[in-house]
Amino acid sequence: MEAEIKTHATELIGRRWLSKRTFEIKFSKPSSYRITSGQRIRIYHQHSHREYTPVSAPGDRDIRFCIRKVDGGKFSTLLSSTDMGTRFSISVPDGYFTFKPSSRPPIFVATGTGIAPFCSMAGSGVTGFTLIHGVDNPQDLYYQSKLEADADRYIPCISGEYQAETSYFRGRVTDWLQRHLPAAAYDFYLCGRREMIRDVTWLVDERFPGSLIYSELFY
Ligand SMILES: Cc1cc2nc3c(=O)[nH]c(=O)nc-3n(C[C@H](O)[C@H](O)[C@H](O)COP(=O)(O)OP(=O)(O)OC[C@H]3O[C@@H](n4cnc5c(N)ncnc54)[C@H](O)[C@@H]3O)c2cc1C
Repeated sequence: MEAEIKTHATELIGRRWLSKRTFEIKFSKPSSYRITSGQRIRIYHQHSHREYTPVSAPGDRDIRFCIRKVDGGKFSTLLSSTDMGTRFSISVPDGYFTFKPSSRPPIFVATGTGIAPFCSMAGSGVTGFTLIHGVDNPQDLYYQSKLEADADRYIPCISGEYQAETSYFRGRVTDWLQRHLPAAAYDFYLCGRREMIRDVTWLVDERFPGSLIYSELFY
């Protein structure tokens, strides 16, 4: 029997598009709702639910998520179009993908909307990190100006076909790590696609002995 999950009522109060495929959505925050950056929340609507990681910081007034509208995706399509004021339920936050300070330099690696926990961590005061964001197209570098200001180093990696001249790194996050990150021990935080997490994990085992890896798989 599945354990009963405690939920809170919330309401959709905002939506803005960040790119052609990705939007930020804002929910009212239930009173006495406590969250640590990097934790996940399950959002319920009628008989469906999906998990999302807030992009907002724990001290913000509302709860915001950065969501990609997936082709044929049931829940992300609903969230992209449902009316303001629609009521949802949300779980108590959980998960262990939270920042753990250590003597090793933190390297944050995200693909797409996997940037969410790192925005939240930066908003909660985490500093001193290198952030590598892998996207297909520069228009998907959401939150770029904030992250450029907050990160020690912010490295956009563009892996798709893209004609215009930019100073961004062309290639996948693994290419950048292989070519530019000096061999040493780090704390790697990986968030996003399964393939990225798998490939970076292999690379870390091979080239960065003594490192730790924390990961959160979105799909
Ligand atoms: C811990 C956790 C945190 C997550 N946080 C976020 C978040 O902050 N933002 C976010 O956008 N998603 C996040 N996700 C993914 C999210 O839970 C849903 O899987 C996603 O929104 C698709 O749901 P859907 O109902 O629209 O698609 P579905 O109808 O469930 O699935 C349609 C297909 O799309 C694939 N798919 C799922 N996600 C993506 C994607 N991003 N890009 C391309 N294909 C995809 C699925 O594998 C499936 O094959 C998170 C997942 C987990 C487990």
